[in-house]
Amino acid sequence: MSAIFKRTKILASVGPPINSYEKIEAMTHAGVNGVRLNFSHAKYEDVEQQIPWIRQASEKVGKPVAILQDLQGPKIRLGNLQHNVDVKKGDEIILDYAAEHEGNVYPVQYNLAEKVKIGEPIYIFDGKVRTTVLEIPSETAIKVRIENNGTLMSRKGINLPDTDFGGDILTPKDIKDIEFGADKDIDYVALSFVQSADDINNLRQMLVSLGSTAQIIAKVETKAAIEDDTLEAIVKASDGVMVARGDLAVEAGAEVVPIVQRKIIALCRKYGRLSIVATQMMASMVDAPEPMRAEVSDVANAVILGADTVMLSDETANGNYPLETVAAMKKVILYTQEHLAVAPITDIIKGKKTHRDAISLAAVNLADQLGAAAIVAETKSGATAGNIAAHRPNLPIISVTSDPRAAQQLALSYANKSFVRPDGEKAGLELARALKADSFFDDEQVTIVIVSGKQPGLIGGTDTIRVRVLE
Ligand code: PGA
Ligand code: MN
Repeated sequence: MSAIFKRTKILASVGPPINSYEKIEAMTHAGVNGVRLNFSHAKYEDVEQQIPWIRQASEKVGKPVAILQDLQGPKIRLGNLQHNVDVKKGDEIILDYAAEHEGNVYPVQYNLAEKVKIGEPIYIFDGKVRTTVLEIPSETAIKVRIENNGTLMSRKGINLPDTDFGGDILTPKDIKDIEFGADKDIDYVALSFVQSADDINNLRQMLVSLGSTAQIIAKVETKAAIEDDTLEAIVKASDGVMVARGDLAVEAGAEVVPIVQRKIIALCRKYGRLSIVATQMMASMVDAPEPMRAEVSDVANAVILGADTVMLSDETANGNYPLETVAAMKKVILYTQEHLAVAPITDIIKGKKTHRDAISLAAVNLADQLGAAAIVAETKSGATAGNIAAHRPNLPIISVTSDPRAAQQLALSYANKSFVRPDGEKAGLELARALKADSFFDDEQVTIVIVSGKQPGLIGGTDTIRVRVLE
């Protein structure tokens, strides 16, 4: 066996409570594998400080850390109101992109008149105030009817569960943020409110043309995205998928979320994509040093389903106990993985395979039959390591790549421990020997399975499995 480390990874969101080098280092030390920069709130000058802090902390602690740029997408908000307003069922109000708050006219940050249709529902304030579109009286304004009593406040979020954005979900702000991020040291770009695979393809084109090497995470949080065929197409088009449970619950209903979560994790495993479970996993820890029982169960359940990564939002971005939250989450992950293996899924076992998929499956079976201590993947882009991870082997996947970006991206991948080393025929074996000398493995004699290609450093050349016994 080998040293204990958590196979399900933790992605933590940055915010005021952890906004210093020292805090980031402490978080990394406590178990954070990736950091989310939330562009709904982030200021460019803060991000420019945070990225080097994260890289420095990762070096100090001695493990790769993924940096994720989370784009706001069409997360529409009310503008500033003069004061809070109580609204009643049956009231009619105007939401105007080009106006200030005055009487029953309310400012919004997005031109809804361009996208919505009469009769569509519009939810304000996390679904607390439900409305229906009555009229589109001008090019910038819509008139809606209030469907329940509630309160409107400045800058509260607006959800459009039935509105089709027609493959055009990137706002001018997103485009600016993408351009800002493209030459920064960013590993993943997450896109909010994805409606179709086209949204991902459009973003990919933009990133490629800007020279970015970041991979793409689709945030699934709309009704359109969870239609069966659409969901599968989104998973295939993306490098990873986030179950964005906060907005998904508002748009599709809270009861829909657990089933969608299962589907997404299974599809991601089928296609070798990263899966991230997000929002309210340890929400009570914003104000308390201990999690609630249901939250512990939620994290354990994500581990049992085989999620690659569990995410913290307010807990670390606005909470009073960010370090305690990471420690509590880590404890749940370690206990759960030790007591229950992730179930295999038949979808990735049967069927015709690419060379790489077949080799990955064979390596996992071989490691199992031999009681191996680890699978070592020599990988260029990280895809081989990701394919092995899709099988959720009950042991570490040690990946070695010459590309720091790939190593950082793999920081969020199930059971992965990635290392950056120069390409070479013996890169995997040499790394495993060094780890053995460093007491990474507990036993005197350990068997490892090495997956590699004939030409080290070539993408897509995976064709060799070797078994080695280290004494
Ligand atoms: P958000 O995304 O935190 O950016 O809104 C996650 C979610 O909606 O759950
Ligand atoms: Mn969201």
